[in-house]
Amino acid sequence: FTVLAFESSADDTCAAVVTSSRQILSNIVVKQHVLHEHFGGIHPSVAIEAHQRNMPGAVRRALEEAKITVGDVDGVAFTRGPGIGGCLSVGSNAAKSLAAALNKPLVGVHHMQAHALTPLLTAPLNELPTFPFLTLLISGGHTLLLLASSLTEFRILATTADESVGRAFDKVARMLELDWGKRGLGAALEDFCRTGGDFDEGQLGRGLDDAVPQLPLPMPGQLGFSFSCLHSSVERALASHPSSINSSSVPHAYKLALARAFQSAAARQLTSKLTLGLQWCERRDITVRDIVVSGGVASNAFLRDRLRVALDEYATSSVTSGSDKYEPIQLLFPPVELCTDNAAMIAWASMHRFLEGDHDPYTIELRSKWSVEDIRA
Ligand code: ATP
Ligand code: FE
Repeated sequence: FTVLAFESSADDTCAAVVTSSRQILSNIVVKQHVLHEHFGGIHPSVAIEAHQRNMPGAVRRALEEAKITVGDVDGVAFTRGPGIGGCLSVGSNAAKSLAAALNKPLVGVHHMQAHALTPLLTAPLNELPTFPFLTLLISGGHTLLLLASSLTEFRILATTADESVGRAFDKVARMLELDWGKRGLGAALEDFCRTGGDFDEGQLGRGLDDAVPQLPLPMPGQLGFSFSCLHSSVERALASHPSSINSSSVPHAYKLALARAFQSAAARQLTSKLTLGLQWCERRDITVRDIVVSGGVASNAFLRDRLRVALDEYATSSVTSGSDKYEPIQLLFPPVELCTDNAAMIAWASMHRFLEGDHDPYTIELRSKWSVEDIRA
């Protein structure tokens, strides 16, 4: 069964062709972040216009790269929500019109469900996650810890009280005046922490790290994220530095120490809440063998390392506390290009419904606000 899928919920225009045998025949992503850089976030009307401009070309390329014609398409899928209404409507109108013209079945997909199910498409067959599994979804728009118990049943164990971890990375990178680079602000911050920028580590001097304030772990012991407290701590630390007339006058070494303190605090919060999620499951006799980490922030190598260490520690403490319930836990990261928004994941999340003959009418409406807990509602 061959699905052509459309995704346009935020700022990427995406079209892809995927088969029921897990083949990604094409996966086209047209980025438009350059248009939004100076707005400090996605500008809806700019995004809608860009989707309208880019969608026809994306679909054309998706078919060409898949080496199929539109007659080979068995079903059409699209992102029904959540997302920016006007943006969603570009992909949805394209999908509905095409399906109606071809007289083919149509399926509208929940964007977050698609992110969470991505490893079922990408993981090697011997590493496929089994339900129930935990998903840590960390992107520009979301910070969610989900318990996935079937293809359509998700429970939100934790979400953010304020902003997403990705936005906090973006804001801190901006405060430190880092360049966008090829991979965006979040990745620029990661690179800065690793390499120190154009800076000789030997000049760092002693005592600077001590001068950087300890960044908080919000709501310790509770399942819930908060990232605005981290970026505002960084903001205060920058403003209160003795040499701070503007951020360019703050010593490079101090900026570097702050960047590292921020990245460590963000990683500490994510690992700590993930561990709480595992304990939550353990208390309810829910055996979790897999954890899927996805979203743009999941490409951060420092964070990946911290997550692995935290899981090892969790395993050791479970064994030493004599818990007989402990099972080895697999940490799964989809490939980076499928961690961020794409239409291949939309195609895959629609597949079970096509195969079951469970389709949506061509009149189906968007759901720009749609909880992942209500997929079937
Ligand atoms: P959503 O998918 O929730 O609608 P989005 O499309 O904005 O949101 P993604 O494209 O998945 O999100 O991720 C983008 C975010 O990931 C940005 O905030 C970016 O700064 C962050 N990010 C990307 N790479 C890294 C990295 N290496 N380290 C930290 N953050 C990163
Ligand atoms: Fe997304």
